[in-house]
Amino acid sequence: MGEAPCIGIVGAFGGDEGKGKVVDVLAQNAGCVVRCEGGANAGHTIRLEDLTFVGHLLPSGAAAGTLCAIARGVRVDPTQLLQEVSTYTAPGAGGKSRSLSLLVDDGAALSLSWHQRLEMYFERVKEKQVRGTGSTRRGMGPIAATAALRLNPRVGHLTRPEELRQWLDDFYEAFQPQLAASGNSVTPTMLADELAALGHRLAPYIGDVRARVEQIWRDGKSVVLEGAQGMVLDPYWGTYPYTTQGMCTFAGLLQGCGLPVSALTDRIGVCKAIATRVGNGPFPSELGDPALLADEPKVVDADLDAFAREMLAKINAGHASDQELGHYLRVRADEYGATTGRHRRTGWLDGAWLEYFAAVNDPTELALTKLDCLRGLRELKVVTAYELDGRHLPPGTVPALASDFARVRPVYQTLPGWSEDISDVTRFDALPAEARAYIELVEEIANCPIRWIGTGPFREQLIVQPRN
Ligand code: GDP
Repeated sequence: MGEAPCIGIVGAFGGDEGKGKVVDVLAQNAGCVVRCEGGANAGHTIRLEDLTFVGHLLPSGAAAGTLCAIARGVRVDPTQLLQEVSTYTAPGAGGKSRSLSLLVDDGAALSLSWHQRLEMYFERVKEKQVRGTGSTRRGMGPIAATAALRLNPRVGHLTRPEELRQWLDDFYEAFQPQLAASGNSVTPTMLADELAALGHRLAPYIGDVRARVEQIWRDGKSVVLEGAQGMVLDPYWGTYPYTTQGMCTFAGLLQGCGLPVSALTDRIGVCKAIATRVGNGPFPSELGDPALLADEPKVVDADLDAFAREMLAKINAGHASDQELGHYLRVRADEYGATTGRHRRTGWLDGAWLEYFAAVNDPTELALTKLDCLRGLRELKVVTAYELDGRHLPPGTVPALASDFARVRPVYQTLPGWSEDISDVTRFDALPAEARAYIELVEEIANCPIRWIGTGPFREQLIVQPRN
């Protein structure tokens, strides 16, 4: 079936890898961009000519003007989605409004305000066993759970008020004790009224995403499947229970959008030159203690240059602590959450995890973003293996239990850094030799070519290597 490329893009680490930029480039020539998994807990930066905003549900390809589809694997919060649609279509600086071609799958699970209440309840219960899972409190776990119990309404119910009311009544009856315990005051009648109004506004966008995407693909146009978060957060293959609900693998993309497995021609894994993680959970190459992050001051733009100069001098003289190095990377790479504004935990690129990512996903190519953020560091480290209880773990494997993962020790290879500014470099062979060596080491560990190299935050700051 189908001749056109079907390109999947997923995050190789903890999300926020800069998938949006790669999607943006691919979306220029695509028939559609499909958001396949996750929900409003993910955030990506959408840069338009006259507007930059953080999208949670709209695919990042929206900016390219192609069809944006929200597939069945996405948990849809109608209030959030309509807000994003309004922001996107509002008249820009020149007074011209933007049009948006959007299709939302009628079978996607509806996210309700009740789910966030249930999340508060269950996060409190879990505190007893594990430190909070670092949830963004957007109700992702409860949506998956109530859908698994066949108690969750779907997006299509938004246009059928009577059926929806029945679903809400059943939901409420099943979870009334937990909702009451978490301070809920929204009754089924209130929620039904609110959703009816939202449904009216969303109705023109609701339809059969799978069939439409398949048609576009059969017609010979390329299809871009956009993942959310990264594999560290995958419910099966991530660091459970510090994980999310949406699947973060290429297999998850196909499951989410309903195209056959055989459709996927290109599998792009996106990896950042600085490893980051939001929320709790194992992070072997982390620099510093996450407990100290809440008190770490944010550096305002005006002080950035002075901060970077002073810190680099200290780091390169060997006088900086891991905490300071982690802070420097956070500031340098602007690692503050798009959804929550939280400080992201930072660390060295984790090649051992990347090898595991490659084993599970078999990417055809990798994108390495934020390479520019390593500039000026005299020495760089990359994790090449994991050690547990004094023994190397077999390559491409990680512990299944978080309690074991927390005891994993990283084995590092140290490489020399570079001082040249690479933000305008457009060809691999024009990069400093040290940067090329760094890239080649990562390729060797992952056993996969790095075709995309991020050299700055803007769309054009991307080296795209020809295919071999
Ligand atoms: P996503 O969640 O993986 O889609 O990540 P985003 O698309 O939100 O990207 C995170 C941020 O990183 C955005 O502000 C991007 O502009 C920025 N970014 C992406 N690639 C690069 C890069 O190569 N260098 C720098 N400095 N910033 C980048």
